[in-house]
This record gives sequence, C-alpha cells and structure tokens, in this order.
Amino acid sequence: MNIRQRWIASEGRYDNNAMYQRCGRSGVLLPKVSLGFWQNFGANDPYERSRLIAQYAFDHGVTHFDLANNYGPPYGSAEETMGRLMDDDLRPYRDELFISSKAGYDMWPGPYGNWGSRKYLMRSVEQSLRRMKLDYLDLFYSHRLDAETPLEETLEALVDIVRQGKALYVGISNWPLEQLAFGYAYLRARDVPLLIYQGRLNLLDRKPVETGILKFCREKGIGFIAFSPLAQGLLTDRYVDGISPDSRMARAGSLTKDRLTPEVLDAVRDLQRQAKAKGRSTAEEALRWVLDQEGVTSVLVGASSVAQLADDLKCVEV
Ligand code: NDP
Repeated sequence: MNIRQRWIASEGRYDNNAMYQRCGRSGVLLPKVSLGFWQNFGANDPYERSRLIAQYAFDHGVTHFDLANNYGPPYGSAEETMGRLMDDDLRPYRDELFISSKAGYDMWPGPYGNWGSRKYLMRSVEQSLRRMKLDYLDLFYSHRLDAETPLEETLEALVDIVRQGKALYVGISNWPLEQLAFGYAYLRARDVPLLIYQGRLNLLDRKPVETGILKFCREKGIGFIAFSPLAQGLLTDRYVDGISPDSRMARAGSLTKDRLTPEVLDAVRDLQRQAKAKGRSTAEEALRWVLDQEGVTSVLVGASSVAQLADDLKCVEV
C-alpha cells in the first residue's frame, strides 16, 4: 500500500540568528526575506513547483508569506494555492507563519469589488480567509489609496477587521505620505497601530526614500517591507545576456521589454561587477542594498524556482 508521507519542516529552520528583525516598534519579528505570491503561485503555475518554493522558504526561516485577493492569475488563485499548501503541508505550522493579504485593486465585477469602500474590504477579507482556508490573517492591508472614498471609511474597516479577529494587524500599501500620516494617526487613536507600510523600493526605484515615506515609518515606529526589491528580476543576472523565454519579461505581463534600456543594462552590469568583487551574487547585492536602508524590515521577493530563492536568501548573514 502506498501511504503518502506528510511533509515535515526542517528542524534547523530557525538556526540563522540573523534572520529576524523587529517590525517597527511592535511585538512582531519578521524575516529579513519574505516570500510574495503575486506571481508563480497562480492556477496557471505548476503547483508542485510553487509547493517546493514555499517549503524551501519555510525550511529556511521565511515565516512571512504575502498575498492579495487578486494575485494569480486568475484572481484569487494564489490564495487558493495557499489554501492547498495549508492542507498539504503547512497547517501544523500555522502559528509559526505570518500570512498577509490585501484588498484595493479590482477583484470582482460591479461597484463593490474594487478600491476602498467598507463593503469591499469587509467582504474581501472573508473571501481571502475562505480561499486560504484560514480562520485568521496575521496582517491585512489596504492595497492602494482610494481618493474617492473618505479615508475614515477605509481606515474604520481596517479597525473593525482587527476587532472582529479576522486579522491581527493592519498595514497600508502604496498610499502617499500625506494620507499615510493621516492613517497612522487615525489608527493609533483607535489602538490599532499601523504595523507596516508596503512600498516598492529597489536600486532602480527609490521613491520611499525620496518622498520621505521611509523616514516617516522609521520615526513613527512603523515597519517597512520593500516589494519588488529586485525590480521584478531586472536587478539579477536574468536579463544581462538577453531575454530568456521562461522569464517574466518574456511572458509580457507586468515587466515590459521597454524597461530593459541601455542605461538599466549598464547599471545591472555595474552591480554584477561590484557583487562579483565581493564574492556575492547580483541578486544578493541588490537585496543587501535594500536591507541596508535604515528602517527597512524585510525584502519581499518573488521566485520562480527554489534556486532563485536560495540565491536571494544569501543576503541574510548566517
Ligand atoms: P522581485 O523584485 O523579487 O522579482 C521577482 C522575480 O525576479 C522572480 O519571479 C524571478 O523572475 C526573478 N528573480 C528572483 N530572484 C532571482 C535570482 N536570484 N536570480 C535571477 N532572477 C531572480 O519581486 P516581485 O516583483 O515578484 O514582488 C515580490 C512580492 O511583492 C510580490 O509577490 C507581492 O507579494 C509583493 N508586491 C506588492 C505590490 C503592492 O502593490 N503592494 C506590487 C508588487 C509586488 P522570473 O519569473 O523571470 O524567473
């Protein structure tokens, strides 16, 4: 009889003492490298590959998985993959995991499946829990600013999501500084402190530094998690010798060919040289730069293979 063996996480998964960093002035420690499910975890991606990446991550102390309602494609399917991973491998480790989701972009048809209304956020969090087969989220984000909805409505929904036990903490992603400051004060006054801000930060895009968002987070004790820290793969060896057919750029989605300008290629080759001189990989060097920015809690990487994730994890000193 073929008895299916249950996957067991590595006993050494917490051996790297340098892995965790306090998230702002909170009680939460996050891994310096977190794993994002935006791409490579949808219904069109091979499940067994996604599963190996998630297993490898958890085996190496990556306790934070980041999702959103519409990650896939199709929308919702990355959360369904997360649900399957819970069933297959991760449920025994639920309390060792820090799982986030978000709502803010288009998710379902009609006027209530997008932006920042209370209706959208409250229903979206329920859907996310169902797809991921979880009874709570660790972190729930407003995914983007909705300039048409009163900020108080969006923020009050975040407060209520925490009060109802559907998420333990709240975060804000992609809001400009002025609205972030308003949100921070609003949440603090209601004793649901803003745990973390999620923004794009990498060597090619330093907006959170330039706009003062990172400084604001640092001063107020809000954690900062950097998404696309490798500029979707540009800041690795991936495109130095052309566009490989299995790359994100070749798939013609979120990373368009016009991003590969001669200036960007020069900058990446420079980075590659600097990395080599230090005995590091290009991705490692790029991630170290992000982690070195004062106030950054974690780099939120994507990976289409275990080898990539292994390479990315080198940025955390052992
Ligand atoms: P990255 O900048 O880390 O890009 C990931 C891609 O880079 C991989 O899919 C892979 O591309 C390539 N790559 C990664 N490591 C290596 C390596 N060592 N060598 C060569 N290539 C490598 O991050 P993402 O843009 O994927 O974003 C990460 C996460 O951030 C998302 O999953 C999501 O959770 C979050 N996010 C949040 C947003 C928001 O609005 N809040 C917006 C965007 C992302 P390839 O597929 O070609 O192999």
